[in-house]
Amino acid sequence: MIYNPQTYKIKDEAMVPFIDPDEIWAIINEAKSTKEQVREVIAKSLNKNRLSLEETAILLNTTDPELIEEIKQGARRLKEKVYGHRIVLFAPLYIGNQCTNNCAYCGFKASNKSIKRVTLNKQEIIDQVTALEDVGQKRLILVYGEHPQYDPEFIAESVKTVYCVKSGNGEIRRVNINAAPLSIEGFRTVKEAAIGTYQVFQETYHPETYDKVHLGGKKKDYNWRLTSLDRAQEAGIDDVGIGVLFGLYDWRFEVLGLLRHVNHFEAVYRVGPHTISFPRMQHASELDIDKSNIVSDDEFTRLVAILRLAVPYTGLILTAREPAKVRDEIMQFGVSQIDGGTNIEMKGYSRKEKQEQDIDSEQFKINDDRSLNEIMNELIDNKYIPSFCTACYRLGRTGEHFMEFSVPGFIKRYCTPNAMLTMVEYLEDYAPEETKEKGYALIEEKMSEIDDPKYIEKVKNRIAQIKQGKRDLYF
Ligand code: SAM
Ligand code: SF4
Repeated sequence: MIYNPQTYKIKDEAMVPFIDPDEIWAIINEAKSTKEQVREVIAKSLNKNRLSLEETAILLNTTDPELIEEIKQGARRLKEKVYGHRIVLFAPLYIGNQCTNNCAYCGFKASNKSIKRVTLNKQEIIDQVTALEDVGQKRLILVYGEHPQYDPEFIAESVKTVYCVKSGNGEIRRVNINAAPLSIEGFRTVKEAAIGTYQVFQETYHPETYDKVHLGGKKKDYNWRLTSLDRAQEAGIDDVGIGVLFGLYDWRFEVLGLLRHVNHFEAVYRVGPHTISFPRMQHASELDIDKSNIVSDDEFTRLVAILRLAVPYTGLILTAREPAKVRDEIMQFGVSQIDGGTNIEMKGYSRKEKQEQDIDSEQFKINDDRSLNEIMNELIDNKYIPSFCTACYRLGRTGEHFMEFSVPGFIKRYCTPNAMLTMVEYLEDYAPEETKEKGYALIEEKMSEIDDPKYIEKVKNRIAQIKQGKRDLYF
């Protein structure tokens, strides 16, 4: 069967090859990266145009250091021009690490007998969420292994439990999910629990490599995974996140794989994925992979900048897998969300004292274990406005990244003010005095980015209300 987005039906899922490895390699091999071409492609992106696979391949094949610098500067300009200085913050919460799959790269694989298996019960979820709320978190992503115990009803129940926890002024206002692919019926069940984004990473778009690193279990089925978010769409979940685990196969191929997946969504559903994640391989218990495709820091920076230029209106997520130095460097090239105060130890958030990561009880090694407040300080020092905003999701304004990107004034009217309002909640409820002072100074400084004086008045009025005790105000 030939892939045709106009007639694509999810029931054909097993046969429709919307990823064709030969096509992707042909595009990479044919792309010539002359100075003129690279500059033309950057200029096209800066004019707010999506790049084709062929144009993106021109950037991917660039090896001239001067042009690589221009790609990075282009991504930085695009980010500043379109998104301003907001960074959305979230935290991951591991619900269960039982798993029936054998992914060579993951510490949770079924064959790993040294890992301690834990599934949080209701009270344990409440304890973790309370601890997260008590430091100021408002957005979580729940993470699960793939196991019959973690069926759609279990996932939905854990989401509902999280939403019910209220500690002081704290509450979780958006719960995203990272879990195994579900059937259409299963996706319907979790949708009813009011989830935000459903993330499934393909890990690698290269079928042979996929087969090699997925040694057993349901995840071995490449197509079932590739078509999972089509089933989510069919079930009414149009807010989805895709991703690649960089380090399994050639990174240039994977970037085009991600782009091909975005194209598929846009062609079939008229909406791209909400976010793209690009976890990079980290050390894990009993890690068993060929190291020849490990991505260096330089390549990683490049690939993030190229993704920003290629899909200017898709959210980009950078996680605490990366060390603080790499995160700080890469953030400027177009990242829109990061996790802060991350702890991936099972039940780790409620532990009072900080302790060394134990690789035998966690999925992989994280390299940025700063507290949420340390991250807030760092962001404020670098003039980013940390945001816990959940307004679009709660008002049903879907496709928020697209709107930020394409609706004139959207950022000034909604995103910047909402970032400020959620930041003020943080400063009032959770921040030490020093952070509070710096935070308010930054808000004062950034108020000028909202150019309409009437709007500035409205924002100031809401900030005053929050200072008097009101919460959860948004535009
Ligand atoms: N079990 C679900 C699944 O496989 O989709 C949830 C996945 S896992 C808990 C979240 C993601 O972590 C995986 O999709 C993978 O990309 C990433 N991951 C796994 N092992 C990793 C490692 N050693 N280093 C970095 N990221 C890793
Ligand atoms: Fe299980 Fe997911 Fe880890 Fe694979 S990546 S072993 S499916 S938890």
